Amino acid sequence: MTLSHRIVRIALPLPRPRLFDYLAGPEARPEVGHCVRLPFGPGEKTGVIVAIDPPDALPVEKLKPILELLAEIPPLPAQWLALTQFAARYYQHPLGEVISAALPPGIRRTVKLPRDDDPWLATTAEGRAALGEAKRITKALAAVEAVQAAGARRRSQLLTDLEGDASGAIREARNKGWLEVVARAGEREPIGALTLNEAQADAVSAVNAAAGTFKPFLLFGVTGSGKTEVYLHQIAHTLAAGKQALMLVPEIGLTPQLMERVASRFPGANLVSLHSGMADGARSLGFVQALKGEADIVLGTRLSVFVPLPRLGLIVIDEEHDASFKQQDSLRYSARDLAVWRAAYEKLPIVLGSATPSLETWLHAEARRYTRLDLPLPAVADKPPSLRRIDTRRVKLDHGLSPGLIEGIRVRIERGEQSLVFLNRRGYAPVIACPQCNWISACPHCSANMVFHAADRSLRCHHCGGEGRVPHICPGCGNQDLQAFGRGTQRLEERLREHFPEARIERVDRDAVRTPAQWEEVRGRIEAREIDVLVGTQMLAKGHDFPMLTLVGIVGADAGLYAADYRAPERLFQQLMQVAGRSGRGELPGEVLVQTEFPEHPLYESLARRDYPGFAKRELAERKLAGFPPYGFHAVLRAEAPELDTAVAFLQQTRHAAEALQSPVRLFDVVPMRLVRKARLERAQLVIECDTRPGLQAMLTELMPQLYALKSPKDLRWHIDVDPGEL
Ligand code: ADP
Ligand code: ZN
Ligand code: ZN
Repeated sequence: MTLSHRIVRIALPLPRPRLFDYLAGPEARPEVGHCVRLPFGPGEKTGVIVAIDPPDALPVEKLKPILELLAEIPPLPAQWLALTQFAARYYQHPLGEVISAALPPGIRRTVKLPRDDDPWLATTAEGRAALGEAKRITKALAAVEAVQAAGARRRSQLLTDLEGDASGAIREARNKGWLEVVARAGEREPIGALTLNEAQADAVSAVNAAAGTFKPFLLFGVTGSGKTEVYLHQIAHTLAAGKQALMLVPEIGLTPQLMERVASRFPGANLVSLHSGMADGARSLGFVQALKGEADIVLGTRLSVFVPLPRLGLIVIDEEHDASFKQQDSLRYSARDLAVWRAAYEKLPIVLGSATPSLETWLHAEARRYTRLDLPLPAVADKPPSLRRIDTRRVKLDHGLSPGLIEGIRVRIERGEQSLVFLNRRGYAPVIACPQCNWISACPHCSANMVFHAADRSLRCHHCGGEGRVPHICPGCGNQDLQAFGRGTQRLEERLREHFPEARIERVDRDAVRTPAQWEEVRGRIEAREIDVLVGTQMLAKGHDFPMLTLVGIVGADAGLYAADYRAPERLFQQLMQVAGRSGRGELPGEVLVQTEFPEHPLYESLARRDYPGFAKRELAERKLAGFPPYGFHAVLRAEAPELDTAVAFLQQTRHAAEALQSPVRLFDVVPMRLVRKARLERAQLVIECDTRPGLQAMLTELMPQLYALKSPKDLRWHIDVDPGEL
């Protein structure tokens, strides 16, 4: 072994709290941040060098050599490693697991892509004609549509625009003569920036003035108040300074319209979009372009917070309150919180936009840690729809619909306007039951009922995905008269069809609309006024102006008022504000009807006045009394096993270990989870609470190594969730 061999310490994408040492040959020239391929067990893996020649390495003779240093990928920058290391510490996860969340799964394959295989593509006349005549958007046509939207697009970028692996679709479109290779970016004119109103201009200059320093902003304004326009101006300023911009949007917010709006505003810029639905290769390509400094704007969902950007100048998070910014499995990180940390570390301004901020962000703004920038609705548009509460204790409901709501819909249909009925429960009915023997359609694998779906007469568990047929007779007593109790969107849709047989009624939920392309198609028909009544879940709540939509009916919202989870009212208010904002977006006045048994509930009072600050004030006062976030901090340990006792015993053991630490945290009792049985496993949890974040962190840092070292039963799985989305 010659001296010029280097020992490289590698973080591997593995759920283990350890790093691995290997040898790199003299020709490799390893640097911290380089990706390397190496032998591991019977196979090979790709990891990242986090240290070179660490003093505590094993003797050289015991180390295996790496297979290859991926020199085509520049080393991941120090800031990137710092971010992953922070996430590992804060979320109490092995660095390898963080790296595996942060690196695109197919990182190796990008290296193989030859440069000249990445031409600029533009649509041909045939392509545009095919698109215009198409009844159905095939994958190849979707590629044409995406190129058309951007004017011209690099093949690699197009791959990141489309769902799944689109290379076949692009090939098909080229073979059919719908797409052609052009010399460079198309001649397309940028869609001009709008002249900002005063509030927008103030918001833009406040953020521009903060360039190069850490400064968090809350951009507070309802949908339509011009937040996106503000982001675009801020991004323009960032690009003009030669910097990169990162914009995070909720999963459901990454729409083709938004991509088109950004792409057409910056036709010369290299825009990379990233989301988890993309094929591995495309994701890696975007990641490497960003790392090489070739991407100017990265627009993506939560995973984009980990994209390395050597010239990063601005971070924007749209709809910062959205639950999809929190990852719900393996590394349970909050992309919003990590983005704020990243902005602080890299000394950048960060803009969090929302009409209904998370209470965490709102409290920061109230305490002046974040600068609040208000965007009032422009005076012309400032006519929030009137909101009326229908007291369902005083009227007779027809399958959950009040006479007032039915009448409201009837009037809209007559006038050629559109209505939306919002019920956040999909399926036909939440349960099937036998009135004679009390048999119910319980899921055999979960402590939950199976939901009745009428279209295929199936019973489906929304927790484990289990499916079964609706029995013809009661499995308990043979009774032939099984009944569906309660209602979901399918039942509402059916009832509305009976009321309005002539009307064009469309249901929008995850069962009816499965892909962004399908939602696009429905959206087009709403705009073309081919739909009279929409029935659906929160899918309908987001974005989009439908000028003819003048009535929003809210059904079954009360469940969120007194739910067991303390965050339920916050989520309910956010959802209702959003869905209520769907009505009256055009010239016509809008109306919102809320069916409720609690018309005097303060949440509905605040909603009627569109008073988010009032709602937040009351809710924060309650959280403060209870010591809940953002006044207290939680981590929750969850364990699952075939037997509840196994899970509880493990958490009890953990609790004892935690008690021994003499820390200021409060340890809750180990309890079964609300949904105790899920997918045949019994689940329990231990909540750890502390008045301060550092207090909680210090305790976890002591406790977790003990936990990882603990020999837990084979059939038990556990995880830790810091800042959990719910308790
Ligand atoms: P938000 O992101 O808050 O929903 P947008 O930026 O999308 O708001 O703006 C809503 C609508 O108003 C868009 O159609 C946008 O083009 C338009 N708009 C925004 N700002 C201005 C402005 N300063 N002048 C004219 N129209 C504007
Ligand atoms: Zn029965
Ligand atoms: Zn189930």
